[in-house]
Amino acid sequence: MGSNGMGGLNMKAAIYHGPGKMSVEEIDRPVIGSDQILVQVKASGVCGTDVKTYLRGHRFFEPPCILGHELAGIVVEVGTEVWEVSVGDRVAVAPYVPCGFCPMCQAGIFELCENKAGLNSGAFTEFLAVPREVIERGLVRLGPDLSFTAGALAEPLACVLNGLEDCQLKLGDTLLIIGAGPMGLLAAQAALAQGVGKVIVSEFNEERLAKAREIGALAVNPSQENLKEIVKLATDGTMAQAVLVCVGFAEAVEEAQQYVAPGGIINMFGGLPKDSTVTIDPGLIHYQQVSLVGSFGFTHIQFRQAVELMANKRIDAEQIVSHKLPLMDVEKGINLSVEQKALKVMLINEG
Ligand SMILES: [Zn+2]
Ligand SMILES: [Zn+2]
Repeated sequence: MGSNGMGGLNMKAAIYHGPGKMSVEEIDRPVIGSDQILVQVKASGVCGTDVKTYLRGHRFFEPPCILGHELAGIVVEVGTEVWEVSVGDRVAVAPYVPCGFCPMCQAGIFELCENKAGLNSGAFTEFLAVPREVIERGLVRLGPDLSFTAGALAEPLACVLNGLEDCQLKLGDTLLIIGAGPMGLLAAQAALAQGVGKVIVSEFNEERLAKAREIGALAVNPSQENLKEIVKLATDGTMAQAVLVCVGFAEAVEEAQQYVAPGGIINMFGGLPKDSTVTIDPGLIHYQQVSLVGSFGFTHIQFRQAVELMANKRIDAEQIVSHKLPLMDVEKGINLSVEQKALKVMLINEG
């Protein structure tokens, strides 16, 4: 249980050396402090952020560094001052947690915390040290029924719960989701679990549409069908109480305005490229009282809720995982995601 004495041990980690450059290397295993724990990563998800960073760099990730922020694993070492967890615990680990004290935290908007604490390594590695703040607020034990893959999906699912909260849907409402990527599909699952009446998903990729259908959404390919007519018909003319835009282009936000009900909400859930501009119909905002909102990240509360929803079988998030690969194949996994050949890639450490 001691925190020292592990020096000299190695591990494999995928080091990101800049756009298009990543290699799995042998590096030192982290040595934990007395208020930290060491987690052996058993599953880590490849996320859109990792893909974007790999392709064109990201201001948050200065190379060389380790990417990945969706993870679950086993506690293998516990610092002498840590009482909350034990060696052998299976845990989902949030990549960051709010401070609890800044003005944003005090206002309850934890996802906008100005002073987040987080992991100092990405998840595409065999072991990582978890600091005190994350142990306290961002660690959730996985019951025996919950896989590491499910645990690693807690982070994206938490982001989706954040996005749905901002949609303010009521029981029986209709939600339109634009884009059936991993986030869009998780949002469909979560919305149905939360008692939304209808979920309509718009997507061009037929495989993803099939997945949306499997989840229980009304799946529409707008290149073949008239999405507006379908939303109108499905809602008896009211249109959707919320439109969750789960793709990253401005045109989708502009288009979303045709599908929203008076008093409804359009949520820019997918991030747009930096200098994007979006044209908004002011009449829709004023006379129809439509709100345009955005959501980013998650709170520690939503992270816990995400695990609970999966543990209680309200959401089977693993349905969106299309590929399970070893850490060695991380670049392959990223490229499969780039080419849309994979829906969600999970890196698995069997060892
Ligand atoms: Zn993510
Ligand atoms: Zn804060």
